[in-house]
Amino acid sequence: MSTFKAPRGTYDLIPPVSATYLAVREAISAPLRRSGYGYVETPGFENVELFARGVGESTDIVTKEMYTLTTKGGDQLALRPEGTASVLRAALEANLHKAGSLPVKLWYSGSYYRYERPQKGRYRHFSQVGAEAIGAEDPALDAELILLAHDAYRSLGLRDFRILLNSLGDAECRPVYRAALQEFLRGLDLDEDTRRRIEINPLRVLDDKRDAVQKQLTGAPLLRDYLCDGCRAYHAEVRELISAQGVTFEDDPKLVRGLDYYTRTTFEFVHDGLGSQSAVGGGGRYDGLSEMIGGPALPSVGWALGVDRTVLALEAEGVTLDLPDATSVFVVPLGEEARKVLFGVVAELRTAGIATDFAYGGKGLKAAMKAANRSGARYAIVAGERDFAEGVVQLKDMESGEQTPVPLDKVVPTLRTKLN
Ligand code: AMP
Repeated sequence: MSTFKAPRGTYDLIPPVSATYLAVREAISAPLRRSGYGYVETPGFENVELFARGVGESTDIVTKEMYTLTTKGGDQLALRPEGTASVLRAALEANLHKAGSLPVKLWYSGSYYRYERPQKGRYRHFSQVGAEAIGAEDPALDAELILLAHDAYRSLGLRDFRILLNSLGDAECRPVYRAALQEFLRGLDLDEDTRRRIEINPLRVLDDKRDAVQKQLTGAPLLRDYLCDGCRAYHAEVRELISAQGVTFEDDPKLVRGLDYYTRTTFEFVHDGLGSQSAVGGGGRYDGLSEMIGGPALPSVGWALGVDRTVLALEAEGVTLDLPDATSVFVVPLGEEARKVLFGVVAELRTAGIATDFAYGGKGLKAAMKAANRSGARYAIVAGERDFAEGVVQLKDMESGEQTPVPLDKVVPTLRTKLN
């Protein structure tokens, strides 16, 4: 072991488990790639002001959890705590909203950073796959995104997840509700921090996880009773479109989520096998965000699914993904001459697209066959001087143990046929 360990709240992805992470990213992005979403990649850090304005000055993410730094040049940067603000910033900067038809549909995958108290399912460095549909107000778009996330989880074989759905209203009806909620909250017995929150961001109080707070919230005014006609109709259509696909969801009138930019549709995917960090993904509509970061009005909707928690959800349900073995053929040379000849065979097999590995390090036959076994290879090629004298290699079926000679110049076509 070295002197160093991964920083607190972080962990490394190491084989074989790392293969599951790749497969999860692949599975989450597959439905998006089939639905007109293009890949976008933005820097791991941004101007701190983007998040302050975009995520919200009053959110925990901005006030407590951002990794901020000042560069030698004096720029104030932050490691990205989430994806939406960056993706929207990139789309605006590239004028994607002017270049083609709307919505601009983008997906992304990457690392995010929040200085949170680490626990199972909550890390300081974590991984998300996300999607954003920018520049269209259409209940079908909200429904599409919810259905695509649902498809992603289903394709992974997950079953114990639920969709929580709510509407947060818009600039017309939310202020009226906000005032009513404030009025109610001011009458409760709350600590000073929470009292301050009532004035800055009262909706977030609904999100308080503490029992003592939750108990007092029974009877709190609910946004659904304050929705304006436009928001009510919009929400009804989102619900209808999702239901029509046979996908069930639960109405959660207290679902507000931790970011300020949401309007109308908000949703969260929760998994029941994860304990306290049960949200595997979430998202919603953010019609005002573009203007908040200096862009034109661009009503948009998106989500981000957590890769780390999705992997934990797979573990909780005992789902093992059907991952193809990394190596199909393992090549074992017997002796110095064989090492050179077979190294060439390895290269040929790889060029032919067959995943091949080699027994490096001058191992004896026994250790080499152990390595072949561990690699998961379906076939091993074993050969020494005696085989070359006859112009063959021995092809060993790792399942049956059966061994057959194959002419040296027929190795590639033989394996190609056998592996198909
Ligand atoms: P949020 O933007 O907070 O709604 O996050 C979206 C998803 O990212 C969550 O549902 C989690 O799956 C994941 N996520 C957020 N924060 C963390 C964290 N600190 N550690 C692990 N996963 C996280």
